[in-house]
Amino acid sequence: MSSLAVTDHGPASATAGVWREETLLGLIRQAKQASRETGVEVLCGVEANVVSCRGQLDVSAEIYRRLDILAVGLHRGLAVGRGAGASRDRVKNTQTLLACLARHPVDVITHPGHLFQIDLKELAEAANHTDTALEVNSRHGAVDESFIDAAAEHGVRFWCGSDAHHPRRVGDVQAGMSLARRAGLPPGRVANTKAAFTGIGSEQGER
Ligand SMILES: [Zn+2]
Ligand SMILES: [Zn+2]
Repeated sequence: MSSLAVTDHGPASATAGVWREETLLGLIRQAKQASRETGVEVLCGVEANVVSCRGQLDVSAEIYRRLDILAVGLHRGLAVGRGAGASRDRVKNTQTLLACLARHPVDVITHPGHLFQIDLKELAEAANHTDTALEVNSRHGAVDESFIDAAAEHGVRFWCGSDAHHPRRVGDVQAGMSLARRAGLPPGRVANTKAAFTGIGSEQGER
């Protein structure tokens, strides 16, 4: 392994992640130190929570600008998810994610379609426009081949994530990678493959 990205949940998460956004600054220092000591490039990011339908996040721009990766996801129990049937409000959920893309330099939308229904076509189009990847999540299995296939038509890139929640599972992206392969995605379309970094596969087999 030559590089590793750690993206803990943002402070609005009730059960996991950092309690305060300032903690992320300490993690940046730790990531740099780990890179020096191991020779593995350790990237420090966050999976920020969306806390309003206007696309506001639980991590301020002042902090996320200093991180390597800004991942953003919809999670239960926060502003967007409250109320009966909120997770099934496809239009509102999609508009909320689009507002995030307009407001913040989002690198990846995590587990699209997990818990919250979304309009995949609209999200994929917007994500392609802002050069934001969509995650193929190895933990929740929320997306399938048809989802990847439909999103890929809009030119969007993907990102395979472990959603580890435990040190032992960090870097375990096998399930996501197998799914991407089954969906016929060329390696160059998955942003965290070696092929994407070197450009291999990004031209041949491009959809
Ligand atoms: Zn998440
Ligand atoms: Zn998670």
